[in-house]
Amino acid sequence: MPRILITPCRKVDDYVESVRRAGGDPIVADLGVAAPEHLRAADGLLLTGGGDVDPTYYREPTHETFSPAEPGRDDAELALAREAMARRMPLLAICRGVQVLNVAAGGTLVQDIPSAIPGAVDHRPGLAPSGAAHDVTITPGSQLGGLIAADLIGNAATVNSRHHQSVGKVAPGFVVNAVAPDGVVEGIEAPQQPFCVGVQWHPENFVTTGEFRSLFSGLVDAAHDFQQRRAR
Ligand code: MN
Repeated sequence: MPRILITPCRKVDDYVESVRRAGGDPIVADLGVAAPEHLRAADGLLLTGGGDVDPTYYREPTHETFSPAEPGRDDAELALAREAMARRMPLLAICRGVQVLNVAAGGTLVQDIPSAIPGAVDHRPGLAPSGAAHDVTITPGSQLGGLIAADLIGNAATVNSRHHQSVGKVAPGFVVNAVAPDGVVEGIEAPQQPFCVGVQWHPENFVTTGEFRSLFSGLVDAAHDFQQRRAR
């Protein structure tokens, strides 16, 4: 069974259960363990939701709305993301995770959508966790589009939304795979990696109803292939 390392966060149970239902063996990461050592015991990486990445990591001054993640997460998750990419290990990144991924690969973030984009969609409407917040348009031909084909109407999906930051300058080697009606980046992926996909919404909140389950299946399937390749 492919082992999926999951970074610890406030509501980690939904991520753990999503991986389990997709056929993976979930392991919640210990941020005190060095990334290379931790990934030797894993076949895939899941970067989870949480607070803001410290903007010093992408060399920008700190916006007044900065709301940090738990101590140690920035350093540990950036290292895990870089190490996973170096190993071509499958990686799924969710919400804060997609922001960590973009920064780890050399991109930047929009630090506060309401101040940066006048008239933006409300990306933090305070609905129930799986509440429909806004649509996203999926990039035709993207890996994401293939994965979530069953959740799409045409090129669009309706998603939940709980963020005030987003991907800014897209990291080298990555492409945008989803965008909100206001132009906010809602997902990125690295086409030259076997499976390196990030979304800004929260697929783990649909764990009991099944929407976007294919994101977790995609990760677990790719992790299975990674495990087989490594065994040879
Ligand atoms: Mn959003």
